[in-house]
Amino acid sequence: MTGNGEKKKAAPNDRSFTKGLSPLQLIEIDACTQCGECLKYCPVQDVTGNPLISPPEKIRVFREFIKATDGLKARLLGPQLIDRKLLEDFTKAVYECTTCGACGQHCTVGIFTQRLWPMLRKEMVRRGLGPIGPQVNLPKVIGETGNPYNRLAAERFAPWFPEHVKVVDRADIGYYAGCTGAYEATPMVRGDVLVLGAIGEPFTMLPAEDEVCCGFPLFITGQHDMLEDLVSRLVAAYQAKAVKTLLCSCPCCVNIMSRDWPLFYKKELPFKIRHITQFVAASMKSGKLAIKRELRERLIYHDPCYLSRGVGIMEEPRAVLRGIPGAELLEFDRNRLESRCCGAGGAARKIFSENAIEMGRHTIAEAVEKKADKLVLSCPACYAKVNEAMVGYDKQIEIVDIMELLAKMIEAVDSGTP
Ligand code: SF4
Ligand code: SF4
Repeated sequence: MTGNGEKKKAAPNDRSFTKGLSPLQLIEIDACTQCGECLKYCPVQDVTGNPLISPPEKIRVFREFIKATDGLKARLLGPQLIDRKLLEDFTKAVYECTTCGACGQHCTVGIFTQRLWPMLRKEMVRRGLGPIGPQVNLPKVIGETGNPYNRLAAERFAPWFPEHVKVVDRADIGYYAGCTGAYEATPMVRGDVLVLGAIGEPFTMLPAEDEVCCGFPLFITGQHDMLEDLVSRLVAAYQAKAVKTLLCSCPCCVNIMSRDWPLFYKKELPFKIRHITQFVAASMKSGKLAIKRELRERLIYHDPCYLSRGVGIMEEPRAVLRGIPGAELLEFDRNRLESRCCGAGGAARKIFSENAIEMGRHTIAEAVEKKADKLVLSCPACYAKVNEAMVGYDKQIEIVDIMELLAKMIEAVDSGTP
């Protein structure tokens, strides 16, 4: 589909597959030794056992596509036609991946898979084969409503925004709630705003109708046509509010803002991007925010893939949790850069919902096994899906977002609750 929702003309099956890939990505595809080391860490492989989804198989098949259209034989005798079924099966496999990047983290030759898979998706969109299912409606829905959930701008902040927290018109600090938090994980964004209010530094926000999608759902499903427009609108709007640091709690937003916004904006951004835990950890360190109430509980923190492997933010959330008096911090066996995907990423959580629920249950089961009192998350997609995974599951644990938890500790002191 185009940004206007019109059907894009499919590329013939014998046209080059290398157009949208960087020279480094072409080298990466060539470099895979098929050693299979990454397979041990793939969460989708774990729950489906489907060999087509495995990282080396996706790379092997894509390599065959390149060979058929750009290899020596193709250059001498003309490109070969690729079987349509093979292309369709590959497309499904590349969209079933959660793009968690665990395979890249453990890749013996250092392939940056968290970036490679979305680029392969983009190629399948260019060929008229991707995206899949309702993802095809994303450009139209985002174009019409500003968010991927087809919700009204009037519902973006109003249902959860705490009345007593003041937002100023212009400030050095801007806060971007993000679509998933605002519509699907409201305790999380409410927690963000309550904590910002408690820190007390003035912050600004865009009006709900101007806080449009950051572009991540389009980027990750390979539909890049609208990205330049969305990014330039948002950057100009925050610039007009004199923002110098833009805060956000959604790892996917923070990831695209820091890694890709400068590419779509075509120059350096006029402000810094920070995950909310970076700002809050610094405020706790400088004494601007102190948690006075004790929490005698065992907390286990799950590193979101796009926050840890994506942008390297792993210690700040832990510093925030260690700042809660009495709390004991536990770790998953796989933590930080090696974190195991909870199943919610890569725009796959709604289409491949059963996979996502099973992956989320692995996270819940380990937290329960380690006797944690609370499973602490820091991503709205994880929050929505892991909560869903708990429904009907025989293992139960309290799930809480990191800022939701902190806000509860602050509110309890403010209201005098012991
Ligand atoms: S990115 Fe994650 S889900 Fe996708 S192939 Fe790699 S390990 Fe598997
Ligand atoms: S670890 Fe790297 S080189 Fe080995 S199969 Fe996986 S992607 Fe290929």
